[in-house]
This record gives sequence, C-alpha cells and structure tokens, in this order.
Amino acid sequence: MPARVIDGKAVAAALNAATARRIAEAGLTPRLAMVLAGDDPASAVYVRNKDRAARQAGVAAETIRLPARVSEMEVLGEIGRLNADPSVDGILVQLPLPGEIRPRAVIEAIDPAKDVDGLTAVNAGRLAGGTPFLVPCTPLGVMKLLSAADVSVSGARAVVIGRSRLVGRPLALLLTAADATVTLAHSRTRDLPAECRRAEILVAAIGQAELVRGDWIGTGAVVIDVGINRLADGRLRGDVAFAEALGAAGAITPVPGGVGPMTIACLLENTLMAALARRGQAG
Ligand code: NAD
Repeated sequence: MPARVIDGKAVAAALNAATARRIAEAGLTPRLAMVLAGDDPASAVYVRNKDRAARQAGVAAETIRLPARVSEMEVLGEIGRLNADPSVDGILVQLPLPGEIRPRAVIEAIDPAKDVDGLTAVNAGRLAGGTPFLVPCTPLGVMKLLSAADVSVSGARAVVIGRSRLVGRPLALLLTAADATVTLAHSRTRDLPAECRRAEILVAAIGQAELVRGDWIGTGAVVIDVGINRLADGRLRGDVAFAEALGAAGAITPVPGGVGPMTIACLLENTLMAALARRGQAG
C-alpha cells in the first residue's frame, strides 16, 4: 500500500486560522519585523511568503530591506533599533546574510523576548534545559505535523539527519522531550542507510536533493522531509526520493506542501506568543 501523504498545507492552514482567532480574541495586532539583507532570490521568496501569511493572520509584518553591501555594524544597528522599539513584538533575520557578516553575531544581538525564530543562545538554552519559550519554527512545525498526523512519538525510534542549530539539533531535543529514542545523524555518520532503516520516524534535514533513497526506509516508517532543494531546471526536491519512499513508508510529507507551510505557521504562532508574553499574558 503506498504511503499516506501528510498534507502540511492543510495542517498549517488550521494552525493559521487558530492563530488568527487568538489574535482577534486578544484584541491586539502583533508586529513582526523581518530583516532581509542582500538580494538572494530564495530569501526574497521566503520573506514574501511570510509577509503574506502574516497579514492574513492579523500580524502586522514589515520587511526591512538592506543592500547587499551593508556592513555588520549597520545590520546590528538595525537590530538595536528594533529591540528598542516597543511596538515591535518579533524580529526575524532572514539567513543567509551577505558578505562577511557573521550570522551568529547578528542573531545574538536580537532581544530573546523578540526572537521569534528561537535562534538566540538564550532560547536554545531554554529548549535544551527543558523550559522552552520561543522554539525554532521548522522543528516546532515538524512536531505539530507529527501530532496532527496522529503519529505516536513516545517510545518511537526516531532518526534525525542533520545537526544544524536551525533544524536538526532543536528537533532532536523536541523529540527527546516527547519521549522518542533519538539518533542525531550527520555528514560523518557511519553507514547512514543502516541508521535510517532502524527508524520508525525518519526526519531528513540535510540540504541534498533525494539523498535518502527508498531502500533506506523501514517498512511503515513515518518520513518527514525538511529539505528544500532547487534543481538546475528550477523544480523543487526534498532530501528524500519521494516516489521511491512512497512504496516503503507508512506516511510521508511532500516537498513542497509539507514542512514549509508549517514553518511559516509556527513563526506566526511564535509572534503571537512573544506579543502576549511582552504584555504580561501567557502564550
Ligand atoms: P545546514 O546546511 O545548516 O545543515 C545540514 C546538515 O546536514 C548538517 O548537520 C550536515 O552534517 C548534514 N549533512 C550534510 N550532508 C550530509 C550527508 N551526506 N549525510 C548526512 N548528513 C549530511 O542545513 P539546514 O539549515 O539544517 O537545512 C537543511 C535543509 O532543510 C535544507 O534543504 C534547507 O533548505 C531546508 N530547510 C527547510 C525549511 C522549511 O521550512 N521546510 C526550513 C529550514 C531549512
């Protein structure tokens, strides 16, 4: 039987509707500032999509565009201005940053209370310490997808491929907190296919088109494909060979239409949470 395809668009639409409802009920307009430096075309598309979804949910989004030749000092100055602006609830810096700008220096400059991407050391530490506040959007979206698809995480053998601070690492922590038995695999993992075959939940967050083949997937496994890879002909591919995986997996997320929309929906939920917390209300 071919795998069930998990519809990330539908789950994200439901989460966005819930966020919009909570915003209306709270009678506030959370404000999200997105910093877009340089002219990376993929980054411009991501920011545009976030802007559109934000407006639909009742979040006031603004994009601060900075030229490709902007200096680190100027970016830090912009972050400082947004930190100090009491009307701004969330600050997002779209990565990658151009030139010699150090992403870590820029991210750490964000006020943790406004860090809606959950990337500052303070928010990463809260997650690692078991008291999460603003959690990175993509791994949070993966957890919500698993829950919406009725995947039982507790006690499951989960393999996450990729150990980035943005996706793999925080996801391993979230899965561990949800009582999965987690293996965090990466580019130095010995015999990656064998590690993957043991997984009941397999998450690919690698950035290499179709690296994960059908015969790496255990029968009935739940496969979450975080990868977004643009081929030379412009088509998008995930990190998993989708057509092959359909024959082995029990359930799988497509690319596009899987994790991507959840990332944006979680960003908006985080923005609402930051807005409520800044007003002394629980998220
Ligand atoms: P990254 O480059 O920071 O990290 C990639 C990770 O993959 C590294 O930890 C590396 O060890 C591992 N890796 C690389 N080659 C490998 C190999 N051959 N075998 C095993 N592991 C290998 O990337 P990232 O920021 O974590 O993003 C990963 C992918 O997810 C990218 O395709 C990115 O575009 C996508 N992404 C999607 C969303 C979304 O909303 N859907 C959000 C963020 C990132």
